[in-house]
Amino acid sequence: RARDAGGNCYRFFSPAMNQRAHDRVILSSVLGTALASDRLRLVYQPQVSPHTGAIHGVEALARWRDPVRGDISPMRFIPLAEEAGLIQALGEWALRKACGQMAQWMADGIGIPSVSVNLSARHFREPGLPAMIGAILQETGIPPDRLMVEMTESTMIADLDSTIQAARAIRALGVGLSMDDFGTGFSTLANLVNLPLNEVKIDRSFVDGLGRVDESRLIVNAVIGIGRNLGMSIVAEGVETKEQLALLDELGCPVVQGFLISHPLEAERLPEWVHTWQQSYSTALAPLPAA
Ligand code: C2E
Ligand code: MG
Ligand code: MG
Ligand code: MG
Repeated sequence: RARDAGGNCYRFFSPAMNQRAHDRVILSSVLGTALASDRLRLVYQPQVSPHTGAIHGVEALARWRDPVRGDISPMRFIPLAEEAGLIQALGEWALRKACGQMAQWMADGIGIPSVSVNLSARHFREPGLPAMIGAILQETGIPPDRLMVEMTESTMIADLDSTIQAARAIRALGVGLSMDDFGTGFSTLANLVNLPLNEVKIDRSFVDGLGRVDESRLIVNAVIGIGRNLGMSIVAEGVETKEQLALLDELGCPVVQGFLISHPLEAERLPEWVHTWQQSYSTALAPLPAA
């Protein structure tokens, strides 16, 4: 940059870069306040069997609506939270909120078997994480198998040993462990074998190519085979079309998640969704003739 400016060595940052850095600092501090005052919320996206329609669980996804700036995407504020050192606080908030919500659904007799919470790779390197999860389970009183924790492989390589330790401790609590966005990171197969996973999520990019790109079908098929051989469940993410759904069912994928099934929903809307889904899924999905 300084070089581009034509030998003006004092200009390390262009005005545009300064502006962006400034925005980031402001936004980080606003995010800190939002977190402290509970101005973030979780929405929940259903996951179902493509074959029977049975509800597998929901994934909790963070949403931030700032009074001035409007909706800010997690694609933007999660990296911000990481930079600002807020990601542990955000993860703890999400775990407490999601487990509390699960306790409520259970008390109301709503048929949602589990809730998945996304945790940053950075969080897995915190020695206190498993104990904190244990404390939240106690606090909210939900059985551990009602909770699933999602990790992504893309950034965990930095300290794989401590990640594996944390993963084992979390599993020892009875909590499920899921590998998110599978296929987008590094040394993925080694991670699948070394981590005590219950579930692998096939990244949306591969689901997106189903029926259009030959390689996508190959990759999806391979991941389903590997997952099954390792005794894991497989969730296909980002299912948007009936064609994708039918192909995934044909390939034996046990769980799907995507806009075709439902967009992420506000917590209060889940009971109504579950009710409607249970009434109608057999006719709505039915990619195969009933046995
Ligand atoms: P993810 O965990 O892979 O979540 C799936 C993302 O795909 C969500 O985006 C969801 O809204 C979106 N999605 C679901 N179905 C479809 C579909 O059919 N088509 C398309 N195009 N998209 C679909 P969202 O909510 O914007 O979250 C983006 C990412 O931000 C998440 O990816 C996750 O990595 C991260 N994130 C969200 N909430 C949290 C959180 O509480 N903590 C952490 N650490 N990360 C979070
Ligand atoms: Mg996820
Ligand atoms: Mg994902
Ligand atoms: Mg993702």
